[in-house]
Amino acid sequence: MAITEHGGFLDTVLSQFDHTAARLNLDPALRVVLRNCKRELTVNFPVQMDDGTVKMFTGHRVQHSQARGPSKGGIRYHPSVTLDEARALAILMTWKCAVVRLPFGGAKGAVMCDPHKLSAGEIERLTRRFTAELEPIIGPDSDIPAPDMGTGMREMAWMMDTYSMHRGYSVPAVVTGKPIDLGGSEGRQEATGHGVALCVSEGAKRLHLDWPDVRVAIQGFGNVGGVTARRVAKLGAKVVAISDVSGGAYNPNGLDVNNLTRYVQEHNGVSGFPGGVPITNTQLLTVDCDVLVPAAMEGQITLQNVDQIKARLIVEGANGPIDAAADSVLAERRITVIPDILANAGGVTVSYFEWVQDRESYFWEEDEIYRRLDSILLRAFDEIWNHAQNLGITPRDAALLLAVDRVAKAVQARGLYP
Ligand code: NAD
Repeated sequence: MAITEHGGFLDTVLSQFDHTAARLNLDPALRVVLRNCKRELTVNFPVQMDDGTVKMFTGHRVQHSQARGPSKGGIRYHPSVTLDEARALAILMTWKCAVVRLPFGGAKGAVMCDPHKLSAGEIERLTRRFTAELEPIIGPDSDIPAPDMGTGMREMAWMMDTYSMHRGYSVPAVVTGKPIDLGGSEGRQEATGHGVALCVSEGAKRLHLDWPDVRVAIQGFGNVGGVTARRVAKLGAKVVAISDVSGGAYNPNGLDVNNLTRYVQEHNGVSGFPGGVPITNTQLLTVDCDVLVPAAMEGQITLQNVDQIKARLIVEGANGPIDAAADSVLAERRITVIPDILANAGGVTVSYFEWVQDRESYFWEEDEIYRRLDSILLRAFDEIWNHAQNLGITPRDAALLLAVDRVAKAVQARGLYP
């Protein structure tokens, strides 16, 4: 069914696409194909809870495009996740894979649940049943899930095992982000934050910010935000503010990121960290800093707070943290945004390496992973930056122009079937 009803995030993603398609003067037939998701599966499935009761859960898997190769994208466990959110994230995955020239299209999966309120056994049963429900449409040659918010290596191991049990042999390449012992890749855990940190330093360099005297504020201290914070601190920059769902901490002289990491492990959140003054998540976005990294959730920077942003550079660690209206204001204010489809593409790039290694059953050293990752990300960064400079447009517009054009060319070359 064509996409007709949708919420804010999907609106943002579709309006980015429409804008790009108009600039590319894209054929109407290609527009209609790319504006819609190729396949959407919604499943309602029962899970036995620890107390013996049975609860129904709803999950989705959306495959936006498979024009350039199998679709790829994470599985999100979150209480308020919707089909529209999965669609928006699947579309972004298509552009992201094209930005870094991976032979993949985009997909996303989601289960409406709060993993913090479920036991490990309940999460395992939910994950295995959801995998079984998805089996007709996932596989190493068709659609390859990965972790996203609320899921990680553990869930990927269960997904891989469930799929493999049904096949009768091990199929490691069906998911990425697995433990190393099951065919996971060196560097996968850190890859997204590594790429975000690389975009922070490259972006700062291009804007002639005085590196390493650059003040960075980061929203989110999970896989992406946490690794980014540790990497930019290691590169010498000053991380002045960090927040997570529990609250935040600010210190104009720089937070001790290693201490904060230990604190978060012990206290389950940033809130109360003694090395800085407490701030809220809303305050984090508008603190005095040079670089802002939203690395938590979508829709954080809107017309409500965009005027108060003080950073000169925003690097989108999260997917879709800036809505379309706020993005225009940032462009008018000449605040540079390194878009999600470039900034957080490190994760899917090493997922691609994992898939390649699984299929070859030949595994690379960590150095090799980072050498190849940096080369792919720096090339994409250069292409996008130069395209933006040459056309006098934002890096987001440049990234979308390059990505949508690559996907459109693949769709056109394949033609319509029949
Ligand atoms: P995560 O679950 O590891 O961490 C999320 C962090 O955000 C946590 O620190 C959490 O406390 C915080 N958070 C949650 N709600 C918040 C709120 N309302 N305000 C402030 N902070 C809040 O997730 P992650 O893997 O780090 O993913 C973060 C974002 O990055 C998501 O948008 C995800 O889609 C995107 N992303 C992740 C990867 C990856 O490889 N993990 C790759 C690409 C994009």
